Amino acid sequence: MTTGKRAAYNERLMAALAADPAHAMHGRSVSYRAGCRCRACRLAQVARVRDYDARLLAALQADPDHRLHGTSTAHHAGCRCPPCSRADSARQSAGRERRKG
Ligand SMILES: [Zn+2]
Ligand SMILES: [Zn+2]
Repeated sequence: MTTGKRAAYNERLMAALAADPAHAMHGRSVSYRAGCRCRACRLAQVARVRDYDARLLAALQADPDHRLHGTSTAHHAGCRCPPCSRADSARQSAGRERRKG
């Protein structure tokens, strides 16, 4: 139910954004998620991901038992603890295996 409402909202927002390059919602990650790929919206999304990574990294460093240690998500956020480093090198060698085959 909520998903359908959200999709309809995104559709309306995207139509409004496409119709109006000066729309007040450009430059927000909600607009990026609604489908707008203008420069302002892409920058907003990049900033949001960076912010998410920074907060995740802080949480990881504060909690050695954080459930995301040992995942490439944590490694991407900047955690370089042994499990996270292993997760990333496992992912990279898995990629190499695929390319070889
Ligand atoms: Zn936009
Ligand atoms: Zn870690």
